[in-house]
Amino acid sequence: DRIVSPVVAGDEQAVEAALRPKRLAEFVGQERVREQLSLVLQSALRRNRPPDHILLSGPPGLGKTTLSMIIAAELGKPLRITSGPAIERAGDLAAVLSTLSEGEVLFLDEIHRMARPAEEMLYMAMEDFRVDVVVGKGPGATAIPLDIAPFTLVGATTRAGMLPGPLRDRFGFVAHMDFYEPAELEVIIDRSAGLLDVRIDAEAATEVAGRSRGTPRIANRLLRRVRDYAEVRADGRVTPELARAALELYEVDERGLDRLDRAVLGSLLRKFGGGPVGLSTLAVSVGEEPETVEVVAEPFLVRQGLLARTPRGRIATPAAWTHLGLTPPTPSPA
Ligand code: ADP
Repeated sequence: DRIVSPVVAGDEQAVEAALRPKRLAEFVGQERVREQLSLVLQSALRRNRPPDHILLSGPPGLGKTTLSMIIAAELGKPLRITSGPAIERAGDLAAVLSTLSEGEVLFLDEIHRMARPAEEMLYMAMEDFRVDVVVGKGPGATAIPLDIAPFTLVGATTRAGMLPGPLRDRFGFVAHMDFYEPAELEVIIDRSAGLLDVRIDAEAATEVAGRSRGTPRIANRLLRRVRDYAEVRADGRVTPELARAALELYEVDERGLDRLDRAVLGSLLRKFGGGPVGLSTLAVSVGEEPETVEVVAEPFLVRQGLLARTPRGRIATPAAWTHLGLTPPTPSPA
């Protein structure tokens, strides 16, 4: 349970719901996506028809669930929420699709994790608003076509590349969501602070934004932790000093690296002279599983330009030495 995890924590659902922007105009950042989406929705409203199916692609915590709720709200239609892992059989999907109302928005999170047989059913539903319900087994099985109400599918995926082509092709609009700029995260932090009744100085908001890894979910979480700190150790107002002290206590550094990230990077520099070193050796040196290092720590280090994965192993970039305040060894003459 890292404080910088982009994935929602179990006890976080309620506070996240309270912080969700309700309308497109309130949604901060993602300028291009917002404008494109606004056009899609407005033209659907004008034609009085459900819009094309919409695919939201991007890392966790960037606002995909929020956008699906906004889409339903802007269309004035109900929203049904399910996820790929919840659909294990075609029948699970048929049960959802056959009970949709006219124009309803169906949010299918982690759509890339849906069972294969359900995928085929979804193609037909997306295209013709029809499903074939198979009754019986073996040679006597028959498919009974069933009309379903025209609906809008909003699919979300962290990996658009993993979607089968035929599925991707059935989305009329694909929105690629990218990490947020610090300035955008600052606006989000200010907005959340207002909703949570937290007084935070502008410079403190900047401090939190810079450590939030481009991710609104992390920004909101760090805001709550600095609020706690300011309430217990001071009068509740989050000043830059308090924000820095709180984030230091939680071991989130100026670039948003946490203890694990720093351990991996520190080991690469101190024990292996900056590499190259193989993944499993690096993992053993910090007492972690290779998979943890590869999946949990490395992607952010790579994104930050601190570590590179090469065919010869992991290597640190010059920025890594600077960030940890270390001096690279001078290369010995050949
Ligand atoms: P995802 O579905 O992509 O994992 P969510 O939609 O659940 O992300 O968003 C995570 C949290 O971040 C929510 O509490 C939401 O309020 C907040 N959030 C995400 N994007 C924005 C945004 N653009 N503006 C304001 N808050 C946002």
